[in-house]
Amino acid sequence: MPLRFNSCPHCNQRIVFSIDENDINSTSYPAPVYILHKSESCGKVSTFYVDSLLRVSYKELEKKAGAIKTIETRD
Ligand SMILES: [Zn+2]
Repeated sequence: MPLRFNSCPHCNQRIVFSIDENDINSTSYPAPVYILHKSESCGKVSTFYVDSLLRVSYKELEKKAGAIKTIETRD
């Protein structure tokens, strides 16, 4: 499970999450996945798009269509 270090588009805090092939629909890339920022001060969901190596390509504030899973950030 590769670990990804990024920032939450809602609050800009640093976030860490793990992702694997089963978290995305791999029929087309970049593939969306929902990221839940598990934090008392945030708690919001955004959409991250990853490439075939599960690297983050870009992200959107809103919950966009097409993702199959929601991943919670780690502490
Ligand atoms: Zn956040």
